[in-house]
Amino acid sequence: MHAAIQVDSIQYSYGSHQAVKGISFMVAPGEVLGFLGPNGAGKSTTLKMLTGQLVPAGGTIHILGQAVRGHSSAIHARMGVSFEEKNLYHQMSAEENLRFFASLFGIKQPDIDGLLEQVDLLKRKKDRVSAYSKGMKQRLMIARALINDPAVLFLDEPTDGLDPVSAQAIQNIIRQRAAAGTAILLTTHDMMEADKLSDRVAFINEGLIHAIDTPEALKLKHGQRAVVVRVRRGGGIEEIQVPLDAAATGDSLKRAVDGQEVVTVHTKEASLEEIFITMTGRGL
Ligand code: ATP
Repeated sequence: MHAAIQVDSIQYSYGSHQAVKGISFMVAPGEVLGFLGPNGAGKSTTLKMLTGQLVPAGGTIHILGQAVRGHSSAIHARMGVSFEEKNLYHQMSAEENLRFFASLFGIKQPDIDGLLEQVDLLKRKKDRVSAYSKGMKQRLMIARALINDPAVLFLDEPTDGLDPVSAQAIQNIIRQRAAAGTAILLTTHDMMEADKLSDRVAFINEGLIHAIDTPEALKLKHGQRAVVVRVRRGGGIEEIQVPLDAAATGDSLKRAVDGQEVVTVHTKEASLEEIFITMTGRGL
């Protein structure tokens, strides 16, 4: 089977500033790949090349087996894209927005109510988008991206700035779509979200992918696990960390708890954020 998304050594410069310096990766059907990186890392620029808004200066992109270079309409019919709010018409209702975007794809009988139900906006479908909260607009953008039942979905910061309930609703939709076979590429600053939602994550910094793997593999390969023991000492609580993957973990642990009043014991995994910082020298 073709990779749903296949990217080889793409590059892009804004004037003399090289924003993307040769990025390669693939996304399989049904897979969620999370792009993690700080502001200015090149995430949006990469997504824009994939969706045809920018033409790469070098390298190749194949989506569903077809070469993409700038705008090519055939493949766009199979893509869903959620970028920035400006993609919505604020003077129109949610229903009118979706009807309009369906017409752009030539979809005669779009299931608008079904989509609005999925993103929990059915009751507000007649309201103008200008009266929507940020979370409601974000959910409508997801519905918009799904209007053509896409095989490949690109989501730029889909849960940015949302409350936990709205974020969770969007994450559930993303999981359902992936389970139905859609290949999903999303960007996020939120390493917790990347960890929970992505089958694999790519660490992007200064226009390059520094690592790409499952969150578990990244943690195993690059992270340090530890047992954290909290003991009561002299009226206060003291925290002792014992590295887990070291040769003498057992002995160190024994020394840590020996003769102590132990308050809590838990294991601590390295977070993706810590690994990102170790690998790139900077935070998210
Ligand atoms: P963020 O998380 O802030 O969205 P990003 O990883 O998406 O960041 P990009 O928007 O791809 O990063 O930007 C990569 C680099 O390209 C940055 O240095 C940015 O300043 C620069 N850049 C982005 N868009 C333009 C533009 N239209 N003109 C000039 N430079 C740009």
